[in-house]
Amino acid sequence: MSTTTTTPLPYHLTPKDHLIENSPTSKLSQKIILNLLNTKCSTSLQHLKQAHDLILRTGHFQDHFIAGSLVKCYANPHFGTLDCSIKVFDQVLKPNVFVCNSVIKGCLENNEPCKAISFYYEMVVVNSRPNKYTYPTLFKACTAARAVEEAVQIHAHVVKHGLGGDGHIKSAGIQMYASFGRLTEALSMLNDEGEESDVVCWNAMIDGYMKCGDVEAAKELFDGMLKRNVGTWNVMITGFARCGMLEEARKVFDKMPEKDDISWSAIVDGYNKGGYFKEALEIFHEMQREKVRPRKYVLSSLLAACANVGALDQGRWIHTYMERNFIPIDAVLGTSLVDMYAKCGRLDLAWRVFEKMKQKEVFSWNAMIGGLAMHGCAEDALELFLKMQGEKIKPNDITFVGILNACAHAGLVDKGLKYLNSMEQVYGVEPTVEHYGCVVDLLGRAGLLTEAEELISSMPMQPNPAVWGALLGACRKHGNVVLGEKVGKILLKLEPQNSGRYALLSNIYAKARRWDDVASLRKSMKERGIKTTAGGSMIELDGTIHEFKIGDGSHPQAKEIYLMLKRVIEKLQMEGYSPNTSQVLFGIDEEEKETALGHHSEKLAIAFGLLNTMPGTTIRIVKNLRVCEDCHSATKLISRVYNREIIVRDRIRYHHFKDGTCSCKDFW
Ligand code: ZN
Ligand code: ZN
Repeated sequence: MSTTTTTPLPYHLTPKDHLIENSPTSKLSQKIILNLLNTKCSTSLQHLKQAHDLILRTGHFQDHFIAGSLVKCYANPHFGTLDCSIKVFDQVLKPNVFVCNSVIKGCLENNEPCKAISFYYEMVVVNSRPNKYTYPTLFKACTAARAVEEAVQIHAHVVKHGLGGDGHIKSAGIQMYASFGRLTEALSMLNDEGEESDVVCWNAMIDGYMKCGDVEAAKELFDGMLKRNVGTWNVMITGFARCGMLEEARKVFDKMPEKDDISWSAIVDGYNKGGYFKEALEIFHEMQREKVRPRKYVLSSLLAACANVGALDQGRWIHTYMERNFIPIDAVLGTSLVDMYAKCGRLDLAWRVFEKMKQKEVFSWNAMIGGLAMHGCAEDALELFLKMQGEKIKPNDITFVGILNACAHAGLVDKGLKYLNSMEQVYGVEPTVEHYGCVVDLLGRAGLLTEAEELISSMPMQPNPAVWGALLGACRKHGNVVLGEKVGKILLKLEPQNSGRYALLSNIYAKARRWDDVASLRKSMKERGIKTTAGGSMIELDGTIHEFKIGDGSHPQAKEIYLMLKRVIEKLQMEGYSPNTSQVLFGIDEEEKETALGHHSEKLAIAFGLLNTMPGTTIRIVKNLRVCEDCHSATKLISRVYNREIIVRDRIRYHHFKDGTCSCKDFW
């Protein structure tokens, strides 16, 4: 920080402004400086440093309004200069409530909720009395830090200061208690203090019930409300959707008297999270029929729906719509576009949007890094990670999921381990079970099964099913039956209803030709009433999504598709392809197995693509499960024989098939 350097007078001040140097205490100059801090300095760190310099030289620093604004400006998360903000704060003599509030808020906005709380305690010690603006921020900080004890103590201070009736404090407090699952306290906040709670507080309480899964209590509160606003309806929609009650959510949505952007986006999000992507996209058409102009949040939710089904054409259409209607592409929308393009297999377009974005938040970087990782572009992902640090964006836990995934997909064992081990020390991000899962996956893919097993036993937390699942996948890949059986049994105990686990273990047995074990596994699945997840593949054609299930005969073109597929397989067989039946789940005879394999959903989707698109165009498929070995080798051949690029997104990664090879280098 260059606070004491003697830079020439800031160039952005007109000569008239220089007069303030001679009259440092005039009200006018305070006004000018504050104006400067609130405008130019909120977007440019350079201007801010110059203004800081000016403030020091003109003796305005101990003006609490100016000092507080300076603290606020440095705390702008875009600058990554929270440390400067805190240094400035420390230099203020007897900071008043405004200065203290600025630093507390700044810490929260920079994801340092614990620091925010400790500044509050410091504030209480130096005796500057908190006001009604202090507490909503603090409650949010307690929520973010999950600081239950501090929350209760701070709540007591609120009551002591006679601020319990303030609407903002109340609603923040209700949200906080609800996030801790302490509904009794939340409810007593809603009801106490004699003063009537406003709609916002009631909405917060409904939201709290919904988040804790108490749908009945939420409904009761909703029904009992005399005055509702659009936010009330929105929390009901979001709440029902979160609990998986989409029909109820839809009913509320249809009944509400007036909808805003949040309402539309809540219903789209609900469909997205429930896996009803077609329904989510249908909302877009509905909006057009009702002549509602989609705005920021719903556009972002719609882009997420496109990303989920790989609907590139519709996604591009929405992008064009945004450009034509001059909808500014801010960090949220830009990130949604990056994510959509990356997930639809167009990394080039994702890059283009990302580079054009003026405002990038940590989640924007995460989307781009995650996209690169999924596509196996590990080097690019790691390079972007360095660039992100160069721009002083602090990585978070999700950034590291992306980085570790990038390492896993590219087999960069040493780098992956290095990042896992340095996350906490260098970046202050504590590894979670998810990060360990990524590294187990990394070691497992590289064939280092013993090391993976050792890592699991050294984890500071209980391994979750995803961690064991990663190891089981590795056992399948490398044909380790002994370890696979051990891990498989642990998983079946942890998740007796997850059909995917049975399938994986069964594959391991089948590969070892242990048909008796395959059969007994199948029997126990039947006894427990577990149904397998049907493999499904989607392909977009002219803005419509076509979905195929294994052995699906429901498509209007089914006959042509099966005929096409038959011809494709024959052609592949002339090229030396023979179906790899070792992975078929059940011990059925070879011929039947071949038919089952031959009709896997991605093969049907590819046949459909070959039938309906121009020669030479890229075929894009989205699959809900992992690609099986047989489909993988068949698709490689198809890409060569038919001279097509085929991009398949499976449950966890992308495969770019071209000229008979795949970008995953047969490592998935
Ligand atoms: Zn397959
Ligand atoms: Zn592949």
